[in-house]
Amino acid sequence: MKKVIAIDGYAATGKSTQAKNIAKHLNFLHIDSGAMYRGITYFALKNFWFKNQINIEVLKDNIEEIDINFSIINQTQIIIINKINVEKELRNIKIDQNVSLVASVPEIRSFLLKKQRQIANKNNIVMDGRDIGSVVFPDSKNKFFLIASPEIRARRRYDQIKTDNKSATLSQILKDVKTRDKGDMSRQISPLKPASDAKIIDTSYLSKELVFDKIISLIEL
Ligand code: C5P
Repeated sequence: MKKVIAIDGYAATGKSTQAKNIAKHLNFLHIDSGAMYRGITYFALKNFWFKNQINIEVLKDNIEEIDINFSIINQTQIIIINKINVEKELRNIKIDQNVSLVASVPEIRSFLLKKQRQIANKNNIVMDGRDIGSVVFPDSKNKFFLIASPEIRARRRYDQIKTDNKSATLSQILKDVKTRDKGDMSRQISPLKPASDAKIIDTSYLSKELVFDKIISLIEL
């Protein structure tokens, strides 16, 4: 296995931005594992949405039909599902509201875990997610876990999506962030929690630049 830097944490703590910048700085590949779960959720919403919810049993039965791949542009992944670039579809409220359910399915987690480990066989990577340090790469020397208050995270997410989604409200997003935290922390398999040797960084009142400097100063290669 090559070198792995794991950046986990709560929704909208800035994990992906940090992972991307750190990967660029180190000339590593950035892999956003959340985008993989979002990709599967996107596919499920499109194909297995019955009676106002994703039919998880049908999703499980059809998992092998989902050819999830990515191409790399500027050292960052673009998610490709069954040969279609779905990257632009992955960050919307409907996916936010359904992704934790999809991510709680053991079959989906093991399907993606295999892919995540395969990538690290061939590349030095910075991977961000929820269980990268705790489950996917427990032997990594470099594990970070980002936290921030739910209110600050909701505000960041709101600022991110409000141009594309005029009907989004801060209170709805705060509610979704809290529901997603709860779903991610309480699932039986790979719940969201820091690895025992992860370095915890509270990003609530730190600029992106300061968080970046902090992570870089703590990385041991
Ligand atoms: O990081 P992001 O917010 O895009 O992740 C979306 C969702 O994917 C999370 O809320 C979580 O349910 C799931 N996820 C996960 N394990 C990971 C990465 C993401 O369960 N390693």
